[in-house]
Amino acid sequence: MKLAVLNYFTSLITIDNVMRVEESILDGITVYTTIYEESDFATSEQKQAWLSTCDTCEFKESDSCGNCGCLFESLMNLATAKCPIDKW
Ligand code: SF4
Repeated sequence: MKLAVLNYFTSLITIDNVMRVEESILDGITVYTTIYEESDFATSEQKQAWLSTCDTCEFKESDSCGNCGCLFESLMNLATAKCPIDKW
């Protein structure tokens, strides 16, 4: 299931069988759109496990990581997410 779609596709590029990028030409401008499948996103179980590790981490701030500065909601969006210091 494609979750992001842009009209006027010209080609689909797959990088390492993970990232799918569609290349489009709109009004003469090349536009690259990353395409995500449902399986690309972290499950709620994954996020809970990661968050429980963050809860005991010295870098945890209210809703973000004090090490990389990312909001947890953004940092943990994809199944391939990683802690910046490899705690999860
Ligand atoms: S360094 Fe890793 S474990 Fe610590 S708050 Fe950031 S993401 Fe979580």
